[in-house]
Amino acid sequence: MVLAKIVIIGAGPAGLLLAHYLLRRGKYQVEIYDRRPDPGEF
Ligand SMILES: Cc1cc2nc3c(=O)[nH]c(=O)nc-3n(C[C@H](O)[C@H](O)[C@H](O)COP(=O)(O)OP(=O)(O)OC[C@H]3O[C@@H](n4cnc5c(N)ncnc54)[C@H](O)[C@@H]3O)c2cc1C
Repeated sequence: MVLAKIVIIGAGPAGLLLAHYLLRRGKYQVEIYDRRPDPGEF
């Protein structure tokens, strides 16, 4: 089965939650990118 690839820009709470829900569906390959080396920090 070929998984649809989803790219999420931003590893804040919104991006991580989206990745969580997409991965739970089992139909998607998720990649997350962030401009900061330490996402989640202010
Ligand atoms: C000083 C401060 C204190 C806070 N304290 C609290 C608290 O105590 N409790 C609480 O519940 N909330 C707090 N908040 C609010 C909380 O941080 C936000 O509600 C929450 O982070 C929003 O999540 P988000 O995923 O929408 O955005 P963000 O957390 O901003 O995540 C967005 C991510 O996208 C990345 N990004 C943006 N543009 C690009 C780009 N062009 N390319 C790649 N990456 C990119 C950023 O680096 C960031 O990691 C605080 C906010 C601030 C500013």
